[in-house]
Amino acid sequence: MRLFFLLVSKVNKPLFTAFLLVGLVSTSVFSSPYSGSQLPDLIPKADERSLTNPSFVLGHHWFRKISSSPGLIDFPPAYDYLRLKLAELTPYSQLTNKMVDIALLNSRQTNAFVIPGNHLFIYSDILVLIDQEDSLMGLLAHELAHLELSHYERGQQQRANEQRQALALMLAGIFAAANGSAEAGTSIAIGGAANQASNLLSYSRDHEREADRRGRELLRMAGKAPSGMTRLLLGLSAQSQANPDLEFLYTHPLPLSRAADQLTPEDNRITSQPSFAANSDASFRYFRATLLAYRAALVDNPEPYLKSQVTSPDSQHFALALLALLLDQIEKSQQHLDQITSENEFTSYLQLQVWLQSQQELRAKTWLTRQLQIAPNNLTMTTLLHLIQPGLPYIAATTEAYRYQIEQRLRGNLVAARNNNDEAMLYTIKAEQAYWNGNTELALRYLQDALNVDSSHYRSLELRSQYEKMKGLEIDQALFN
Ligand SMILES: [Zn+2]
Repeated sequence: MRLFFLLVSKVNKPLFTAFLLVGLVSTSVFSSPYSGSQLPDLIPKADERSLTNPSFVLGHHWFRKISSSPGLIDFPPAYDYLRLKLAELTPYSQLTNKMVDIALLNSRQTNAFVIPGNHLFIYSDILVLIDQEDSLMGLLAHELAHLELSHYERGQQQRANEQRQALALMLAGIFAAANGSAEAGTSIAIGGAANQASNLLSYSRDHEREADRRGRELLRMAGKAPSGMTRLLLGLSAQSQANPDLEFLYTHPLPLSRAADQLTPEDNRITSQPSFAANSDASFRYFRATLLAYRAALVDNPEPYLKSQVTSPDSQHFALALLALLLDQIEKSQQHLDQITSENEFTSYLQLQVWLQSQQELRAKTWLTRQLQIAPNNLTMTTLLHLIQPGLPYIAATTEAYRYQIEQRLRGNLVAARNNNDEAMLYTIKAEQAYWNGNTELALRYLQDALNVDSSHYRSLELRSQYEKMKGLEIDQALFN
């Protein structure tokens, strides 16, 4: 049996192999010395982010729609930080595709969730509760566990159509809430509808308990204290007493046994180890300060609110500077930036934005040029330089980029295409932007325009294949709408 498996594996035809392995496993049930849950998992899990996975197509469709809403937090250093934190956990997960795309949304609602196809959403408001990095790691581990254990898909198997409709309905509600969150009042009403839908779909309490347990395992394997997750989940339960409509609890109902899973002696042992991650702690403080500055912009008296939430001096000045920028108070933003004593990616990015918005482009250009000599592949700085310096080459695409990286590249390339009077490229970029804003129909029209103006044979072929791929996606999406 074993030899047969190896021989088949050498034939490089994944589908054929998978088909044979299905047969192999179903016969093993009767002949294997293993029983029940001990049975080894021989079937390689298909790529979660493949177009052949209907959950990915559905999830990706809504990920693009939700993450192009005005509620999206547009601050690349926050995504860079979160991407690195995820990368500390994903190697230990059983996900075939370790890429988890992220959207940070500005909302009054307290929520964080994953949708099929490895898409993670975090709402700014949940950072009020998450005031230490180990709690954030706990949240990431819990959400990663939901993906790894295919909880949506396993729910779907019970009543496929009903579940799929409920997922689409919930995501439509979240999309509406994300679009309305910039305006006072609307998000609460729409949030209610979204919550009703998510109630239909919420994970079962068993799935929650499973995600808690698996999340703790992931944390331990990554050398992190599982106590952070316990503290976060208990904090959310406590919060639910005062606010029974807490959004997180609609998507993640309280398992009956969570209270019993409180800090174990092992959790305490790991917590008591000395921390060598001082820099990482600072990055967390700035990440949190970024999300809470956005969150503060949604309340009536943002400054006192923000000061009460972000208390450490440097990150408080940073948060107030970011809030001022969001409220178009450029001078005030610079005043707060001037009081920050140490520089990092968050403060530098904010400073550059303030320079760019106060017509100090030369200053920004000098600074960026110097930084890019040290780190020539920094996408954020490359994009910013494109916005102020004509004549730069197009920014190359990578095979699997995060959505925020794709957005940055498109912004830089749009400016370059305009400067180069490259009409075909302009249409191509607009097509990609439309696609990433969830408007595939418009994207296809732009691609057709690009094909119409393009004369070079090589690029036409590339455009044609892009067109066919988008068209294929559109057909898949029609099934869900
Ligand atoms: Zn959960």
